[in-house]
Amino acid sequence: TRADITYFGAGPAALPTDVLEIAAQALLDYNGTGLGIAEHSHRSELATNIINEAKADLASFLDIPANDYEVVFMQAGGTGEFAASVYNLIGAWVARQHAAILAELGAGADEAAVVAALRDRVEKKLKVDYIVTGGWSLKAYQEAIRLLGPEYVNLAADARTLNDGKFGKIPDPSTWKLSEDAALVYYCDNETVDGVEFPEFPAVLAPRADGSGPIVVADMSSNILSRRVPVSNYSLLFFGAQKNLGCTGVTVAVVKKSLLPPTTSQPSPALLRKLGLPVPPIMLVYETIAKNNSLYNTLSIFDVFVAGQVLKKLLKTFPDKVDGQQAVAEKKANLLYAALEKYPDVYRIVPDKSVRSRMNICFRVTKNGNIDESEKAFLKEATAQGLTGLKGHRSVGGIRASNYNSIPLEGAEKLAKFIETFATA
Ligand code: PMP
Repeated sequence: TRADITYFGAGPAALPTDVLEIAAQALLDYNGTGLGIAEHSHRSELATNIINEAKADLASFLDIPANDYEVVFMQAGGTGEFAASVYNLIGAWVARQHAAILAELGAGADEAAVVAALRDRVEKKLKVDYIVTGGWSLKAYQEAIRLLGPEYVNLAADARTLNDGKFGKIPDPSTWKLSEDAALVYYCDNETVDGVEFPEFPAVLAPRADGSGPIVVADMSSNILSRRVPVSNYSLLFFGAQKNLGCTGVTVAVVKKSLLPPTTSQPSPALLRKLGLPVPPIMLVYETIAKNNSLYNTLSIFDVFVAGQVLKKLLKTFPDKVDGQQAVAEKKANLLYAALEKYPDVYRIVPDKSVRSRMNICFRVTKNGNIDESEKAFLKEATAQGLTGLKGHRSVGGIRASNYNSIPLEGAEKLAKFIETFATA
């Protein structure tokens, strides 16, 4: 049964049982309305309340400055955000250049001359920068190349160069080759497949004293809600719900308001075409989704409801909000790494110690020198004890214990104990 299992899968992850019980009831009959939550109109007042409460609870738990940031629910997963981040921030970059050129050429400037100047600037200066530290930032980088062509995409750092073509380290920020005035600098805060997490916000990307600085985008799909985030350092954060927030189906984008109207408006499709830049699908345009409070089209209110219930539970459990959850996440991760480190002849932790993820603990089992057989035995015996979902990602193999928020301390303790007994058996 559910009570016998601790599920360490990387996503979708386990959800708290009490949240699922509430969700199951809501699917049948939401608040005595006789209709389930997945049947009610997304335009109903109750749907709007669910969206607004989830947004407010997220902002409260993470201390998102509500005056400066907009929270939107998107629908194409983390992968959709790889594209959305490119489209929207390129659009914002073009809008800035457009305004600057208009200012330079004066109010009466000929439209063709403005477009020509803009086109020249795009060709000479437009860059998006990627810090590639694992499989997911690599995918985002590849998506940028697919959408824009390689000439606009700068690989500012590639962790594989430090480690024989493998991920597992983060290149020192002093070596990053950042472009001047990049439309965005992208990184993945926690690499789910490779078990690499940024220990903190990279200081080279911090805003300058005058408020200017790089346009920073971070993928926080697999570590959001597990530690304090310096939100004001980012132009955009995004995360799929299916690990620490809720069930698969919604993706959250936290967008700096200065990138949205009235401060910044996306260029028209006609202008983008003249500049040879791609026109975004409307579903990926933050200003459209934000203007409609995430209801430009049919949104799964059920998924937002589940995320909202997880947030309510977190707020109830941790009076000091994300700091409380962070302490638990660190405690669980330390326990597991300590158990692994105790037996260096049996376990090899994959990433470098300085960048070990608190969320995805990746290791190899090298007992008796035969990795394949020892990992099979490890997985089999773990499963027999109700410790499931531990198989590493198919692209890298090995073992991965995903230590998301829904893993209770006792679950982590049980796995740590198993790691020890397997090593000594
Ligand atoms: N980014 C990270 C860090 C992820 O872990 C994942 C999925 N596991 C994705 C992006 C892609 O998310 P999705 O499957 O929702 O597109």
